[in-house]
Parts: sequence; C-alpha cells; structure tokens
Amino acid sequence: MMSLYKNIENSIFGGEPTSELLEKAFEKKTSFFGNKITYSPKVFIPLTTMCRDKCSYCTFVKSPSEGGTYLNEDDVRSIAAAGEKAGCYEALFTLGDKPEERWGFARTQLNNYGFDSTHEYLVHSMKLVNSNFQLFPHANPGLMSAEEIIDFKKVSPSGGIMIESFSKNLFTKGMPHFATTTKSPDLRISTLENAKENKYPMTTGLLLGLTTTKDELIEDITKLIHLIENNFTIQEIILQNFRAKVNTQMKFNAEITNDLFLRIIATTRIYAPKHISLQVPPNLSPDINKYLKSGINDLGGISPLTIDWVNPDHLWPNIENLNESVNSTDQKLTKRLPVYPEFIKKDWINEEIFEKINNIIDTDGYPLINE
Ligand code: SF4
Repeated sequence: MMSLYKNIENSIFGGEPTSELLEKAFEKKTSFFGNKITYSPKVFIPLTTMCRDKCSYCTFVKSPSEGGTYLNEDDVRSIAAAGEKAGCYEALFTLGDKPEERWGFARTQLNNYGFDSTHEYLVHSMKLVNSNFQLFPHANPGLMSAEEIIDFKKVSPSGGIMIESFSKNLFTKGMPHFATTTKSPDLRISTLENAKENKYPMTTGLLLGLTTTKDELIEDITKLIHLIENNFTIQEIILQNFRAKVNTQMKFNAEITNDLFLRIIATTRIYAPKHISLQVPPNLSPDINKYLKSGINDLGGISPLTIDWVNPDHLWPNIENLNESVNSTDQKLTKRLPVYPEFIKKDWINEEIFEKINNIIDTDGYPLINE
C-alpha cells in the first residue's frame, strides 16, 4: 500500500497541472463508461429520522423530543406512488442506524406497528415497495450483518454504506465521530465484507472534509482504493464534499476547495479499477459543470419530488439545465437504476427482481424509457 500512498500523494499534491490530471481521468472514464453521465431518478423514503448515533455534522437525525419518528405504512405507500408517477426508478430508504437501541420511544412505535426492530420494519417496507411499484428499493440503514444482507437481497437489488473516513482521529474528543458507536471504519468494512459474502452490490464512499490533515486525506483515498480492489461487490463510490450545515456543531468547519476536490476526483478515477462508478452529488457543488470532465461518470440520485434529506439546504439541479450542461461536454445524461449494468446478473440479484429489472432495461442495462 506504501507505493499506492506515494502515487496518490504525488497525484493530488505534486506538480502536475490539474488540467492534465483531469484529461487522464476523463480518458479513463470514457474508456469504460463511454459518453454517459448517469443519474438515478429517485424518491427519498426517510423511514426514520431517529438514530442510535449522533454525528456532529448530521442534520438528518432527530431525537424523539425533536420530532424524530418513523413513517407509517401509508406514508411509505404514498411517497412510493408519487415517485412511480414521476418516473423514478429508485426508492432510497434513508434512515438512522437501529434507533430502538437508544430510544424507548422508537421501540414503542415499532411495537405499535407490529415490529420488533427497525430491520424488520425496513425489510417489510422495502418488500411493500418492491412488490407494488415500478421502483427498486435501495437502503442505507447503517451497519448490516450477513443475515440482514440476506434479507435485503430478497427485496432490493443493491444497498449502501459510506465509510466516510478511515481516520481514527475523528473519534477523539471534539471530533465529528467522537462517542459514536457505528462510525468505526472497521465495522463499516465488515458490513461490506458481509455484502461480499452474499454477492450484494454496494455503494460506499468518503465524506471529504471531516479530516484536517494532508496525511489523513491521502490515507483515505489510498485505503478506499485498496478496499475496492479487495471487495468485488463495490459497484460505486461517492466522493461527497463536506458542506457545513447551519444548525450543526461543525457549522464553521472549512469546506474543501474546488481545485483540491477536482484533483482528488481525478486521482481516484486514475487509480481505482475502471468499472467502478464514480459519483459526486450534483447539489453540493456551486457549479457542477466544473466536474463533468473530471473522471466522474455519475451524479447519483436526483429526486423530482423530495428534498435531499441528508443535505436539506442544497437543492437538486434542474434536469433540463443539467442536460444542457452535460450535452455541452459532448456527453449524454442518462437515467440508471440503483444497480449498475455490470452487476445485473443472475447470481447477484434475486430471481424476481432480476426479472423485474429485465422488463425495463435496454441491452446496455439502462432504463428503456430514458428521455
Ligand atoms: S449515523 Fe448517520 S443518521 Fe445517525 S447521526 Fe450519524 S450521520 Fe446521522
């Protein structure tokens, strides 16, 4: 890993002009993904805003006294129905990690709905969406055991867990992951290992800007690439730039600058295996156009209906404007499913979902209706 570390360091912080790095990264992107820049039309289903953790940058989480709650089944159905009507393919279940382990209110609410755990209720809700709508559930429930992944695989084609950062410094007092129980990179890697054991396509990624030193940044990119090389279930990585949110402890923390972010993206594309989808969220950068030729091939989920529940201050781009911007770089904005074409194979996807997918995709693995 030492030579990879050195290469990453030279690439991000060496003297090569950013324009040359971007050219190399764009060439590698094009060699595998052609002229496509994809996105996933999705609806957010925030199944619960409660969580057993409390990360200092999180605006999603709410305690019961702050209004934290579960959606009920009618809420889930009506969001899914609206998403289907708006032409979405993905139902993204966003939720806190096992809140019943911390909050009595969460346990009571789950019991009132007839469930013993968030996992049970989540699988039930994903099944409801998968069976009744032309949508594919994809969940980010936090840590997942092998048994839980077996359950998810029955009701969804893919899932995700962010590593965020490999740095242990983030767990010291005053730092963003201090006193958290689920943010240990080792536990998160175990979840990805559980997915590997069960051939379940996964998204992972980094939240850039939580760490403060150059060394931690290089380590994060190096370890991420090492992880991808050793875990064939990782279909996609997100490089998410930290944005300071007003009502959080980290509201005054520095945000990563454009040039550094571009060099990080290009370097990741250059050193990661070529089939890996590389995504930056389009609503977190002041000008997404700068990133369209940086080596990325994907803009993640964009919702025509709901806000970004994780970054509520940042609005989704207008699809027509985005389409024009992508066209102006001689690329084509293309809708995708939550699972990437490379992973739409019988042994990766449950039989029923495989059939549902095959009814709506073209020979390249993208939705037939792609206007
Ligand atoms: S684990 Fe996720 S949902 Fe829970 S507090 Fe941290 S960032 Fe928020």
